[in-house]
Amino acid sequence: MQESIDREVFSRGSKIFRDGEPGNCAYLIEKGSVEISAHRKGKKFVLAILSEGELLGEMALIDDSVRSATATALEETEVVVISLDYLKNKFDQADPMLKLLLNVILGRFRATQRKFLGQSTGQECFTDQTASETEDRIYKKDRERVLNDLRFKKELEQALKRKEFELHYQPIIALNDGSISSFEALIRWNHPVRGLIPPNQFVGFAEETGLIVPIGIWVFEEACNALNSFHSKLAPKNRRKPRISVSVNASTKQLFEPKFVEKIQLVLQQTGIDPKYIHLEITETLLMENPELATITLNKIKEMGIKLIIDDFGTGYSSLSYLHRFPIQTLKIDRTFILTMLESTGSMEIVRAVAGLAHNLGIEIVAEGVETREQLNQVRDLNCDYAQGYHFSKPIPISGAFKLLEKGI
Ligand code: C2E
Ligand code: CA
Ligand code: CA
Repeated sequence: MQESIDREVFSRGSKIFRDGEPGNCAYLIEKGSVEISAHRKGKKFVLAILSEGELLGEMALIDDSVRSATATALEETEVVVISLDYLKNKFDQADPMLKLLLNVILGRFRATQRKFLGQSTGQECFTDQTASETEDRIYKKDRERVLNDLRFKKELEQALKRKEFELHYQPIIALNDGSISSFEALIRWNHPVRGLIPPNQFVGFAEETGLIVPIGIWVFEEACNALNSFHSKLAPKNRRKPRISVSVNASTKQLFEPKFVEKIQLVLQQTGIDPKYIHLEITETLLMENPELATITLNKIKEMGIKLIIDDFGTGYSSLSYLHRFPIQTLKIDRTFILTMLESTGSMEIVRAVAGLAHNLGIEIVAEGVETREQLNQVRDLNCDYAQGYHFSKPIPISGAFKLLEKGI
């Protein structure tokens, strides 16, 4: 790929760009100075003099319009060229709200500039009507997206207030004796009109908007309450059996929120839960995004007595080298490996190698997405410690989880 940031030198008096030209790059002045001017009715208007460190030509990049002024080097001037491709890429990834705001501000700025030039020359080069039509065309898509996002965010906030979320529980089986060792708590949105909405339709958005933070605390609290009822239901019958645990998913946004540890500590106190029955599932991305902060936070969580699980193992950066660096007790091998294991020796060998290495480090292995007896036999042969998947049970409401606990898998 071509380097997107280049340098150019302009001699005194030369034009960097001209009014009306298509704008395909912006410039950052490294040395020298530039005059920005516009001509109306044969008269020149100097709009600005820019010097070292200042940016020019950026407006055309943002709203894809032609240059609305001319830039002339006032002395030998060196600039860094910022290409449209480079910026477009960044801009396209930006939050739609920021894009809309930027476009609106830019549109208003251009309108003011046009008005100023119009007044100075006694000529209206653009009517407000044409300008707003152009704006409408440009912003329509962004505006719709922003409106949809705002609506969806409001709906999610209300869902939390109205207690429309619920947790379903999927059993995780200990392969040494076939008993239920824990349940993974998985969120669903019980929408009054649309019915049960799966997490992949709202968790990503909740992460983007930060709403996952309050939702995540609700999940944690609800899971602790469920754990209390599992324990009290089981207590009389299975006195000698180890108590079951609950696994809670936590996204990067939640873990890196400064008050996360404090908040879960409070929930544990309020619900009277012994932290050793809580497992926190996090993904590899979290560890790689900010390893230093991840280490600090994860150590705090481990010190509380909560067990840490790496979820979807093998789908991210998958650097085995980090395993000893973070205080992890369990790895959950992603279900794509389990799915392809019987057909692909590659997948099988990966599971075998990961299980071997993890065991040497004192880390336990959960095989996720076990759907058939053959897969179950295979993961058992490969020395996995636990298994989870449709073969045992889909995620089910708490009432179903109680029944499973009573009758066993
Ligand atoms: P995950 O943490 O990897 O959860 C496992 C997903 O795999 C669940 O989907 C589960 O229903 C599905 N699954 C389990 N066994 C099988 C199987 O044998 N075959 C197949 N095909 N699928 C299986 P679900 O419940 O739709 O959750 C999807 C994702 O949403 C979760 O993936 C997790 O990343 C996220 N999620 C769910 N609940 C929460 C939550 O409370 N907080 C956060 N941050 N994320 C959550
Ligand atoms: Ca999970
Ligand atoms: Ca997973």
